[in-house]
Amino acid sequence: MIIDGKIVAADIKQRLKQEIDAAVASGRRQPRLEIISVGDDPASKVYVRNKIKAAEEVGIVVSHLTFPADEDTFWVRNSIERYAGSPDVDGIMIQLPLPDGWNERELIDMIPPSKDVDGLTTTNIGRLRSGQKCLKPCTAAGIIDLCKYYDIELDGKDVTIIGRSNIVSKPLADMMMAEGATVTQCHSHTKDLSKYTRPADIVVSAIGKPKFIGRGYIGYEQVVIDVGINRDEEGQLCGDVDFDNVKESCSAITPVPGGVGPMTVAELMSNTVESWRKRI
Ligand code: NDP
Repeated sequence: MIIDGKIVAADIKQRLKQEIDAAVASGRRQPRLEIISVGDDPASKVYVRNKIKAAEEVGIVVSHLTFPADEDTFWVRNSIERYAGSPDVDGIMIQLPLPDGWNERELIDMIPPSKDVDGLTTTNIGRLRSGQKCLKPCTAAGIIDLCKYYDIELDGKDVTIIGRSNIVSKPLADMMMAEGATVTQCHSHTKDLSKYTRPADIVVSAIGKPKFIGRGYIGYEQVVIDVGINRDEEGQLCGDVDFDNVKESCSAITPVPGGVGPMTVAELMSNTVESWRKRI
């Protein structure tokens, strides 16, 4: 089974649009999202473009503030403070990664947790870990929603996550555990990676290496979730998983593109609407 993130993301966005349209028809304001980016990383530009397009589709007012990499941090901090204090702003996100020399953690933690639609502030990460309600990191939330949509049981399953980043893999481990899964987290110091991936019910790869996960890492009838967004030798978009090599032995697999990526964007819209609901 191919797990189609485009279908699930479209479904989420359709429901958000209906909710926003109904609220606007009854005189409420639209949700508002502020995106801040620094530098000119080409991949980030594509991601921001996709987020703006999705926001416009569902009826979220979106604006994008972009700064040169050598900008004084004062101006970025100043914008975050302004958005943080505005009653009409529901969501603030900083497109990552920031250029070398920028302190990501310091800037992210200036975002009020209630407007942190990427779910990356220290407060929201702590809330997630301790099982409290919070805005959740979008990629991890998207993977959980993909599993739910496709009736992929998580309770009691063995899940191996390759990667331990704060953005994707650690929050995903927390969310998988909250769903009742037994989670093994691997990283670049893990000895004999296949020892952990082959017996798992579900393997999630978030390492950022093109087609790294080949047949040798995959067991039989597994669910394989590929978070990676990479370019192969021909410059084509591809995941961490060697899709053609492993697809026959999986019970379900996400493609790249069209798997986890669209879900990340849809969950950002969903978080923005969640924040807006509380504010209106
Ligand atoms: P990071 O670079 O922050 O983390 C990569 C992780 O992979 C690290 O924990 C690293 O281990 C681990 N790793 C690297 N090489 C190996 C290896 N050979 N064996 C085992 N583990 C390894 O990346 P992110 O989590 O931010 O992103 C991962 C990928 O997902 C990227 O391709 C990124 O573009 C993509 N991405 C996709 C999104 C989507 O919407 N689909 C959203 C966000 C990211 P260590 O900690 O030891 O260094």
